[in-house]
Amino acid sequence: MICCARKVTTDMDRWTPRVGLSAQEKMLIKRLARVRTLFAFFRLHRHELFDDGFQEQLESMYRTTGAGLPPHAPAFLCMVLLLQGYVGASDAEAVELSVVDLRWQMCLDCIGAEAAPFSQGALQLFRERMVAHDMDRILLERTVTLVRSGVMTEGEKHAVTKALRVAVDSRPLAGAGRVEDTINLLGHAARSIVKLVSKLTDREPDDICRKAGIPLLLAPSIKAGLDIDWSDPKQKAMAIEVVERQVSSLQRWVDRHLDEAISEPLRPYIDAITQAHDQDLEVSKNGAIQIRQGVAPERRISIQDAEMRHGRKSKSKRFDGYKEHIARDLDFHAIVACAVTPANRPEEEGAVPIADDIRHQKLRLVELHIDRGYVNSPVVDEVFAAGGTVLAKPWGQRAQHPGLFTKLDFKIDLRSQLITCPAGEVEQFEPGETINFDPEACGACPLRSKCTQAASGKGRTVSIAVDEDRQKKFRKLQETKPGRALLRKRTYVEHALAHIAARKGYRARYVGVRRNLFDLRRAAAIQNLEGIHFILRHAA
Ligand code: SF4
Repeated sequence: MICCARKVTTDMDRWTPRVGLSAQEKMLIKRLARVRTLFAFFRLHRHELFDDGFQEQLESMYRTTGAGLPPHAPAFLCMVLLLQGYVGASDAEAVELSVVDLRWQMCLDCIGAEAAPFSQGALQLFRERMVAHDMDRILLERTVTLVRSGVMTEGEKHAVTKALRVAVDSRPLAGAGRVEDTINLLGHAARSIVKLVSKLTDREPDDICRKAGIPLLLAPSIKAGLDIDWSDPKQKAMAIEVVERQVSSLQRWVDRHLDEAISEPLRPYIDAITQAHDQDLEVSKNGAIQIRQGVAPERRISIQDAEMRHGRKSKSKRFDGYKEHIARDLDFHAIVACAVTPANRPEEEGAVPIADDIRHQKLRLVELHIDRGYVNSPVVDEVFAAGGTVLAKPWGQRAQHPGLFTKLDFKIDLRSQLITCPAGEVEQFEPGETINFDPEACGACPLRSKCTQAASGKGRTVSIAVDEDRQKKFRKLQETKPGRALLRKRTYVEHALAHIAARKGYRARYVGVRRNLFDLRRAAAIQNLEGIHFILRHAA
């Protein structure tokens, strides 16, 4: 099916697609001048992207014992994954496009094929293998190498350096799973258990529900089964008790009637019930089961995607899923590393895997442009310790009430750890502390009306951040024109994130942190190749 492949070991084919263009390919490439132009780039440069070194790395994912050999050359399937990411196709759609779309056939070197050159199953397995071997990171690194070394952009002749100046930023990504409340979480997990048991034991689901003591699942939805007035708090409280009782009955039935082999596939759903129970329910003073007040920090919100979490873009804007972080090279305009974290995790956690991936490329982080969320990351300490520069916008210094003195009106001496107010009162401080000025001094102060609206008998307070020294440096930077120009460099990463968002959309394609990281790295690799393509087109 695939025209060009050669044996590199006794059992594995290497992809060796043709370099020269046929008359039909020339015609297709001419047509690819305006829309979906990267197809032309893939066709013209696939042999450079998939050189022998990269193909060897892809082949290393397969054991040399003969077991688990790929049905296709790994580079060929890697090209399919790139095309899939480029057009945003599902696995099934990718299979169809390889038969009906000449652009796909041209890139895959199978023009004229009447049957799909790969199966959906082969594509899924290959993607899982890429994830298991961290080969998505190698793919991204390959594109970074191509951008930085100017392999494809002859005229560029960059002076390649290992010193790296990057900007890091993140964006929200809605999870692929359905977000559910406690009753639906328990009901969804219980229904999944019943369906699986029915399949494994060849019994009717309704029969299992009756025997296991969970008649609620005989209704089309758990809330239809409860059939209560949801505006009545008493009925609502009763409903959670009924659900908990019946779900526990199902768990006991599984423990008593199913052997290990059958219950093993049920494990993720049983664990989900235990997790929802522990996080969302509690026993009240009178011994009844009730919904817990407040939200557990790591609360599970979906049965389909166990890792997605509630997160916040701001105090008022909430989202459910993940945060995608990228680091963009400020000199070579490539995305050098990516990370994905659950939405509830602080921004600073995303910087750590990014720094690890940068180290893996043997690059040295000498300048880091970040927003405030990353300031407390250990990566910032590492960059400072190595003599590098970190640039971030400082926190705003707004007064509690308009017209009152801000923190900037106070003199903060970090070396002697003394703070002096506009009236000359001095207090000692420790970083991370909130300073209370002497209430007596403040009470008698002629500047009081411009300083505080605290109640009588109380003085002005000022909070000193743990990283106050850094904040001071960032503030100084913002006060000068060259400093502000430096801070604006971070907009490059914002543009790159906007392109990622346009390519991938707001909602995750996959479930879980790791698969979504694969998707992000693939999108970043495609974006890097588009960058090379742009340079080539404008140089021509
Ligand atoms: S009110 Fe207190 S803190 Fe403010 S200027 Fe007067 S003495 Fe200083």
